[in-house]
Amino acid sequence: MAAQLLDGKAVAEAILEDVRRQAREQAEKTGLAPKLAAVLVGDDPASRVYVRNKIEACREAGVRSVEIRIAGDAKQREVLAAVRQLNEDPDVDGILVQLPLPQQIDRFAVLLSIDPRKDVDGLHVINAGRLAMRLEALVPCTPAGVIELLDRTGLPISGQRAVIIGRSEIVGRPLATLLMHRDATVTVCHSKTRDLPGIARQADLLIAAIGHPAFVRGEHIRTGAIVIDVGINRVTDLDLVKEVLGEDSPRLAKAKERGFALLGDVHYREALDRASWLTPVPGGIGPLTIACLLRNTVRAARMRRGPTAWA
Ligand code: NAP
Repeated sequence: MAAQLLDGKAVAEAILEDVRRQAREQAEKTGLAPKLAAVLVGDDPASRVYVRNKIEACREAGVRSVEIRIAGDAKQREVLAAVRQLNEDPDVDGILVQLPLPQQIDRFAVLLSIDPRKDVDGLHVINAGRLAMRLEALVPCTPAGVIELLDRTGLPISGQRAVIIGRSEIVGRPLATLLMHRDATVTVCHSKTRDLPGIARQADLLIAAIGHPAFVRGEHIRTGAIVIDVGINRVTDLDLVKEVLGEDSPRLAKAKERGFALLGDVHYREALDRASWLTPVPGGIGPLTIACLLRNTVRAARMRRGPTAWA
C-alpha cells in the first residue's frame, strides 16, 4: 500500500493562524506588531529566494519585516556592525542571518554576535545550550517544524525508534535533542556511519537531512516506517528526476520545461512503496520551517517585551 502523504502546508497554515492572532494581539497591546530583520549577505540566488519567501510570509501573517542587504565582498566587521545595530534597535524582535555566508565571513562569529533573545533561527550557543538543558529557548525552525508535523498529524513520538541521517547544527543535532526530550530512542547517522541502510531500517521514524538527492532508498526503509524528508535539492539531471518521480509524474513534465526539479533526500517512489507516512518535497518540511520562524519571532517579541524575559 502506498504511503500517506504528510501535509506540511496544512500544518504550516495552522501554525500561521496562531501566529496571525498573536501578532494582532501584540499589535493591539503595544501598538506595534512583532518585527523580523533578515540579513542577506551577497546575492546567492537560492538565498535571495529564501529571504523573499520569509519576508512575504511575514507580510501575510501581520509580522513586520525589514531586509538588510550587504554586499557579497563585505568584510566581517561590516556584517558584525549590521547585526550590532539590529541588536540595539528596540523595534526589532527577531534577527536572522541567511546562510550560507560568503567564504571570508566566519559564520560562527556572526551567529554568536546575535542577541540570543532575538535569535529566531535558534543557532546561538545560548539557545542551543538552553534547548539541551530543557530550558525555554528559541528552537531551530526546521526541527521544530518536524515535531509540529508529527504532533498535529497525531503520529506518536514517545517510545519510537528514531533514526536521523545528518548531524548539522541546524537540523540533525537539535532534532535529536527534541526527539529525545519527547522520549524517542534516537540514533544519529552521518558520513562515517557504517551499515547506514541496516541502521536506518530499524527506524519507526526515519528523518533524512543530508543534502544529497534521493539518497535514502527503499533498502533504508522498514515497511510501515514514517519517513520525513528534510532535504531540498535543485536537480538538473532530468534522468534522475524521471527515475525518482516516475515517467508519468506531472512534475517531470514541469521539470523538462524549467530545466530542474526540487527533490528531497529520499527516493520518492521507493519510499512511497515502503513507508506508512511520507513528506513530499516540496510542500513538506519547507513551509513548516517558515511558519516556525514566524512563531519564533512572535515568541521573541513576547519574551523580550513581556514580564518573563529570560536571557
Ligand atoms: P549539512 O550541514 O550539509 O549536513 C549534512 C549532513 O549529512 C552532515 O551531517 C553529513 O555528515 C551528512 N551526510 C552527508 N553525506 C552523507 C552520506 N553519504 N552518508 C551519511 N550522511 C551524510 O546540511 P543541512 O543544512 O543539515 O541540510 C540538509 C538538507 O536539508 C539539505 O538538502 C538542505 O537544503 C535541507 N534543508 C531544508 C530545510 C527546509 O526548510 N526544508 C531547512 C534546512 C535544510 P557529516 O557530518 O559526517 O559531514
